[in-house]
Amino acid sequence: MSIVIAVDGTAASGKGTLAKKLAKHFGFPHLDSGALYRLTALGVLEAGGDPANEADAVKAARAVDYARSADPAIRPDAVGAMASKVAAIPAVRQALFEFQHRFVETPPEGAPGAVVDGRDIGTVIAPDATAKLFVDASPAVRAHRRWLELKSMGIERLEADLEAELVARDAQDRSRAVSPLCQAEDADLLDTSNLGIDAAFAAALALVEPKVKGQLEAKPRG
Ligand code: C5P
Repeated sequence: MSIVIAVDGTAASGKGTLAKKLAKHFGFPHLDSGALYRLTALGVLEAGGDPANEADAVKAARAVDYARSADPAIRPDAVGAMASKVAAIPAVRQALFEFQHRFVETPPEGAPGAVVDGRDIGTVIAPDATAKLFVDASPAVRAHRRWLELKSMGIERLEADLEAELVARDAQDRSRAVSPLCQAEDADLLDTSNLGIDAAFAAALALVEPKVKGQLEAKPRG
């Protein structure tokens, strides 16, 4: 049994940043599961397909190469919205399941554990995860953070539009029939509305470390 830290949460809640920091802290590999859905959406676009078409989306999901997860082309909000569309197709989720499952069961490079962020990690991908966080923040705070991030990249957007898009994406993710966005019963809620990144990381670590520590001591690397 590997040590799994599941970091689920709403769109632009900062879960990816927290997951990366946790991975660095524990020396575990990190999987950004959202990138798999974003790469699927981008794959459909690149092939000139329709993200709402099951056959087009499944074909793209099967061809996803996680090595492309750092590609800036998957980061625009429009790709996020399309990712949410393909993510509602059960066969797409099925096509992406095996890669995620393998990552948590046998983390890369013989690491004793893994950190995975997404929407259904604590509920579907790793229901027996060692530690589970559900990260959230108010829509206004999330929209403001995203606005600042875009502004630093020279992209001007209305904060109100960003907020409406985040709320719509969460609603779509929460209402789909398969693997909807929801807090696992045994997940700790981390509301970062009033926390900067350092304070949010300290709060995440305080919740996760006690659960991981015991298992880490019992499980040497290899
Ligand atoms: O986390 P990120 O914003 O990159 O995710 C993009 C979209 O991918 C989400 O809005 C969601 O629809 C989908 N997703 C998912 N399950 C995951 C991760 C992401 O359905 N585990």
